[in-house]
Amino acid sequence: MLDLQTHCISAKDVVDLRSALAYLSTIPNQLLTTEEPVDPHAELAGVYKLVGAGIPVAPPTRIGPAMLFKNVKGYDMQVVTGVLASRERTALLLNSSVERLAFDLLEALNHPIAPVVVSQSQAPCQEVIYRTPDLDISKLIPAPTNTVRDAGPYFNLGLLRAEDPETGEADVTIHRLCVQGPDLLSVYFVPGRHIDQFRIKAEQLGRPLPVSISMGLDPAIYLAACFEPPTTPLGFDELTVAGGIRQRPIELVDCVSVPAKAIARAEIVIEGEILPHERLREDIHTNTGFAMPEFPGYLGKAQLELPLIRVKAITHRHNPILQTIIGPGEEHTNLAGIPTEASILRLVENSMPGRLLNVYAHSAGGGKYLAILQFKKSSIRDEGRQRQAALTAFAAFSELKHVILVDEDVNIFDTNDVLWAMTTRYQGDRSTIFIPGVRCHPLDPSQSPEFSPSITTEGISCKTIFDCTVPYHLRDKFKRAEFMEVDLARFLG
Ligand code: MN
Repeated sequence: MLDLQTHCISAKDVVDLRSALAYLSTIPNQLLTTEEPVDPHAELAGVYKLVGAGIPVAPPTRIGPAMLFKNVKGYDMQVVTGVLASRERTALLLNSSVERLAFDLLEALNHPIAPVVVSQSQAPCQEVIYRTPDLDISKLIPAPTNTVRDAGPYFNLGLLRAEDPETGEADVTIHRLCVQGPDLLSVYFVPGRHIDQFRIKAEQLGRPLPVSISMGLDPAIYLAACFEPPTTPLGFDELTVAGGIRQRPIELVDCVSVPAKAIARAEIVIEGEILPHERLREDIHTNTGFAMPEFPGYLGKAQLELPLIRVKAITHRHNPILQTIIGPGEEHTNLAGIPTEASILRLVENSMPGRLLNVYAHSAGGGKYLAILQFKKSSIRDEGRQRQAALTAFAAFSELKHVILVDEDVNIFDTNDVLWAMTTRYQGDRSTIFIPGVRCHPLDPSQSPEFSPSITTEGISCKTIFDCTVPYHLRDKFKRAEFMEVDLARFLG
C-alpha cells in the first residue's frame, strides 16, 4: 500500500504521482482516502462526481479533494482521481498560485529542459514486468467505466509517447483508450493530433507505430502534455516544458518490449504498437452507441473506426496506483485550460505588450470554449485594443468560442465579479461582437445547422466577444466604492 509518510512537504519535492499524493496528504482537504470497497464499473466515477468533479458535470457536484480508493473490487491496485480537479490544488502541486499558474507555465515554455534517458534499474515503472502472452489488461488494471453507458473500460490519463517514423521527433499527448481485449486497446485521436500524424506516416510505410502509455505521473507532465499548436507545433516535445516547470529533466526509460520510451517514474506503463490498417468500432463489445462523458458535459458518441494498439508488455511499480479522470469537470478544465491561458498570454503579449494582465479559461467551457481576459486600458488609444486582444485569443486557440473582456479591477477567477461586470459595464447591443461562421470544436451540441441558420455544417460556430470593459472616456463613472485599507491580521488573531 502507498506509504503517505513518504517525506514530501513541499511542491519542490514532487517528482512523480506518489510524492504528489504524499505532499497533498500534508495539506488539509486536498486528499481524501477511502478503504471502502468500490466497483471500478461506474461506481468510482459516481462517487467522485459528488466528492470533487465540478461543473460541467451535472449537479449535484462540487470542487473538492482528490480521492484515493485503496480497495478496488476485484483488483490489487489502488485508483486515484481528481489530482488536478481544483485550480488551487494544481497551483500547490506546481509551486505556483491560482493567479500565476499560466505565467509559470509560460516561463517553463520559454525555458524548456530536454528529458534524459535512465537505465532500467533507475526506472521504478519497471519494478514489475508482464509480457504477452501472459497478460490480460482487464485482470491486471482496474480501468474504470465512467457511466453505465460507456463503450467499455477506459484509461483516461494514459500519456502516449511516440516518435515520428521519419524524423524521430517525439510527442506526448493524452488520448482516451478503451480496453477491447486481453492485449488490445482502441485509441481515439481528434483529427490533426501529432501522434495521429505519426501513425498515418507509419501506416503509409506499412509499419506499426511503437508507443508507450504512461499512467500515474507528476502533474507537471500531464499539464505540459496538454499544450497544443500553434504553441507547440508538430515536432515540439512537450516533455521539455514539463522539465522547464520542474527545472530538471523528466526521466525516460527504454521500453522492455518495443522500440519506445516511457516515463521512468510512472506508476504503470503499457507498451505496444498501433497496428497499420486495423480499425474497430469503439463500442463493439457493448453496443451502447456512446463512448464516455466528454469535456463539455455530454455523453460522447462511440467512434465507428478507431485505430488499435496491440499491447506487448505491461510494467508497473510495486503497489501501483492507477490515475484516472472521470471525463468532464474541473480536472479537465485545468488540464486543457491552463496551457490555453499560457498560449493566449504569449500571443497577446507579443502583439501588444503590457495590456493583457491575465486570462482564465473558465470551467464552464471545460478550459476550451470560454476565456475571460483581464485587460488594462492606459489611454484613449487603448480603446478597442481589448477587442483586438480577443481576436488574438481566437487566433491562439481555434477551439475558443466565447471571450469575456473585463477591466483590471475585476477578479477573473470570481465568476460573481465577472457577471457583475457583465451586468453593470455591458450593454447587449453595443458590447457584443458576433463573428459567425467560424470553425470551432465539434463537441459543442449547439454548433449545428438545426440550432441556427448561420451554421452551415456541424462544428461551425458563432464566436462571440462580450466586451464588459468600461469605455475609456466614461471611466470616471465606473469607480468601485473604496473601503478603508486595514491590518486584517489584528482582527483574526
Ligand atoms: Mn504535440
